[in-house]
Amino acid sequence: MAMMNLAQASVSLDVGTLFVIAICVTLLLGVVLLIAWVQERIPALAWWGAAYLIGGFSGMLWQWSVHLPSPVPMNIANVLLFVAVGMIWGAARLFHGRPVRWSAQLLGAGIWLAACFSRAFMHSPVSHIVLSSFIVAGYTFLTAAELWHERRKSLIRRWPASFVPMLHGAIFLFPVALATLSPSGATIRGLAGWVAVFAIEILLYVIGAAFLVLILAKDRTVRFYKLAATTDPLTGVLNRRGFFEAAAELMASNRSSLEPVSVVAFDLDKFKSINDRFGHDGGDAVLEMFAAVARKTMRSSDVIGRLGGEEFVAMVSGTMGDATVAAERVRSAFAAAKVEHSGRRITATVSIGIACGSPLTAVETLITRADAALYRAKANGRNRVETTEDMAGADAAEPAGRAVAGDLAAIMRQVPAAAMPLRADRLGA
Ligand code: GH3
Ligand code: MG
Ligand code: MG
Repeated sequence: MAMMNLAQASVSLDVGTLFVIAICVTLLLGVVLLIAWVQERIPALAWWGAAYLIGGFSGMLWQWSVHLPSPVPMNIANVLLFVAVGMIWGAARLFHGRPVRWSAQLLGAGIWLAACFSRAFMHSPVSHIVLSSFIVAGYTFLTAAELWHERRKSLIRRWPASFVPMLHGAIFLFPVALATLSPSGATIRGLAGWVAVFAIEILLYVIGAAFLVLILAKDRTVRFYKLAATTDPLTGVLNRRGFFEAAAELMASNRSSLEPVSVVAFDLDKFKSINDRFGHDGGDAVLEMFAAVARKTMRSSDVIGRLGGEEFVAMVSGTMGDATVAAERVRSAFAAAKVEHSGRRITATVSIGIACGSPLTAVETLITRADAALYRAKANGRNRVETTEDMAGADAAEPAGRAVAGDLAAIMRQVPAAAMPLRADRLGA
């Protein structure tokens, strides 16, 4: 009952004016999305903007063609509309780094063109309504599914992102239900009252979806820069800032259970000699190899960072025993690994020091202790793991004040976070 009132109330709105507004808003948002693409350089925005311009143009053609006797301009308008909704689905795929499926994207327009060759279809307005509703709803549901499957987004973000197109698709299926339930003449008459409601719905969807995609794009840009600010561009592991942030989070999550944490300090052996023999690029290749080995060998929950030069650090949730097993695995895997550089094979080894403490300990204290153990590993012949005898106390939440045995803690303070040029390909962009 309320739905009927809504339909009747909307009839009093001037449908023609509503469509003109919808067309203008769509074209305007298309331009806004293209400007956003120029600024953000996210290809999906270009597709989304172009789809809006094509959709707006299709609306203009549609408005103009209702006054013409020939069905051709109207069909072109429909084909353009289906191309536009297909492009929006393509944009949603592109947004998540998935390839555009050209044939599937143009399938809706193709189906419509093929149907136009049938005389029975051409003389059946109800068939027009049903097929066009199916095509629009189909692509809109695909868009919703695409936005829902975004892996990196939280559930809270996924809801509005897929709910908006879901609702739009559902509303577009309404004419199909009407056509199935009532005979052809009644369907057309029944729909007349809903045209204004549709126009308002399209207007709201077009605005809502554009805002949504702009928010998602901004979200992505923020994430990109945050990742860039916390990632070491050469090796892809965390940089100094990223390591301290992630280590603080790990310690905080262990605080309630008082589960200990261990810091593992790594220093590649005789790295100067590697640079001397294979050049700086050869040295860099070894650094990349070490990061790859550490990431592959350690758990995904372990925090791995590069504090500077050939010095890496990891934080492991667990006792000295757990950390020693992990460190020994990294040491032996790295000693066995080799990297090809300028036709020559480079191998290297790493010395490791470990300190364990309560999650209430200051991270700097743990690093200083691990560094002292690392110094012993160097003194005892390199390519080995050494541990601290004493465990940093639960109440030792003081900053590092003691003399630093090696140069790890010193580098920690000196190396600027953005000392090297960014390599976007390593940032998963
Ligand atoms: P050891 O630790 O076994 O005592 O010897 P080492 O030769 O590794 O000692 P040291 O820490 O003094 O040398 C580290 C060298 O690493 C010095 C520097 O030339 C080189 N280095 C620092 N940062 C980079 C980098 O980003 N890339 C490359 N290729 N080399 C670097
Ligand atoms: Mg060093
Ligand atoms: Mg070294």
